[in-house]
Amino acid sequence: STQIHLVSRPTGWPEHSNFSTVAVELADLADGEIRVANEFTSVDPYMRGRMNEAKSYAAPYALNEVMTAGAVGRVIESRAEGFNVGDPVLHQLGWRDIAQAPASNFRVVREIEGLPLSVHLGILGMTGFTAYVGLLEIAGLKSGETVFISGAAGAVGSAAGQIARLKGAKRVIGSAGSAEKVDRLTQKYGYDAAFNYKDGPVRGQLHDAAPSGIDVYFDNVGGEHLEAALDAFNPGGRGALCGAISVYNLTEAALGPRNMSNMVTRGLNLKGFTVGNYAEHYPAFIADMTAWVAQGKIVFDETVVEGLKNSVQALLDLMRGANTGKMVVKL
Ligand code: NDP
Repeated sequence: STQIHLVSRPTGWPEHSNFSTVAVELADLADGEIRVANEFTSVDPYMRGRMNEAKSYAAPYALNEVMTAGAVGRVIESRAEGFNVGDPVLHQLGWRDIAQAPASNFRVVREIEGLPLSVHLGILGMTGFTAYVGLLEIAGLKSGETVFISGAAGAVGSAAGQIARLKGAKRVIGSAGSAEKVDRLTQKYGYDAAFNYKDGPVRGQLHDAAPSGIDVYFDNVGGEHLEAALDAFNPGGRGALCGAISVYNLTEAALGPRNMSNMVTRGLNLKGFTVGNYAEHYPAFIADMTAWVAQGKIVFDETVVEGLKNSVQALLDLMRGANTGKMVVKL
C-alpha cells in the first residue's frame, strides 16, 4: 500500500521535498482489526502546525511516518465484530490508500443517499462541527445580532455563515480572497454583505459592510482581520477564535492586534477553542446539520483533488485559497 510521510520539517511554506511517498507491506489482519480502502482523505490547515516540532493541542507529526488526517473509506476485510465488508467508516489514519488497524480506530458513518462519503470530512464532519460549536457555544450567537466571519468561503466559514442565518442573525458579513468567492457568499451561502480582503484594508471594508458595528466575530484568519474586528465590535461583543491561517506559514512571530484595549473599554469577550474539546455537542450538531442539509437549508461545496499523490499539492493549494468549501483528496 502507499502512504505519504513527512520526512523533514518545513520552515515557512512547506515544500514537496519535506514529504515522500512510501510503499509499505501490509501484514495479515490480526484478530480485532479491519482493513479499509480509503475513498477520500482530508487536507486541513491545522496540518501545517503539526509539521512543526513545537508541541500544540495536536501532537507534532513524527518524521518518516504517515501524515495522519481525517479519512473515509470502506471496509474491505474485517476480523472485528460490528464491521462488515462494504461498511463506510471514518478514521484519522490519514494519507494512505489502505488503512489497517484495530477496529477502535474506526467509526461506521451513515451513508446518505446522493451524497459522497466526503461529507463526513466536511459539512457533516469536523469542519461543519467546528462552525456549529464556534458560533453557537463559543461566541454564543443570539438572534438579531450582526456577525462577521473571515475565511467565509472555506469549509468552516461557509457553514458558519449559513448557521448564523438559520439562527436568526440580523446581518451576516463575510470576507474571502477572490471576487468569485465574494459573489458566492452573497448568492449561495446567504451572506448579506461580503468583501475581498485583497481589495484594500480590512478595517475600512468591514466598516462599510457593518456601519452599525458587529456583535460576533468568527475568526478563521487572525492578523489584520482580528485587529479590524476589534475596532468594529459593539459593546459586549464576542469573538470565537477558531484559526489564524494568515500566520501559519510566517517565519517571524506575527504582530498582535494593536487595539486589544478595546476589550476593556467595550467589555469584549474573545475565546479560543479547538473543536475536539467539545464532543458533548456532537449529537446535537449531527442531528441539526443532517436535517438542515436534507431540507436544503444548508448548502455546501467541496473542492476535490484527484489522487493520493497530489495530497501535498492539495494542502499547499488550500493554504493559498484554491478551494471553495471543503478541500478533499479523492483516491
Ligand atoms: P478553509 O476551507 O477555510 O481553507 C483555508 C482558506 O484560508 C483558504 O481557502 C483561503 O481562502 C484562506 N486563507 C489563506 N491564507 C489567508 C490569509 N493570509 N488571509 C485570509 N485568508 C486566507 O479551511 P478550514 O475551513 O478547514 O479552516 C478554516 C480555519 O479554521 C483555519 O484557520 C483552521 O485552522 C481553523 N480550524 C480550527 C478548528 C478548531 O477546532 N479551532 C477546526 C478546523 C479548522 P481565501 O481565498 O479567502 O484567502
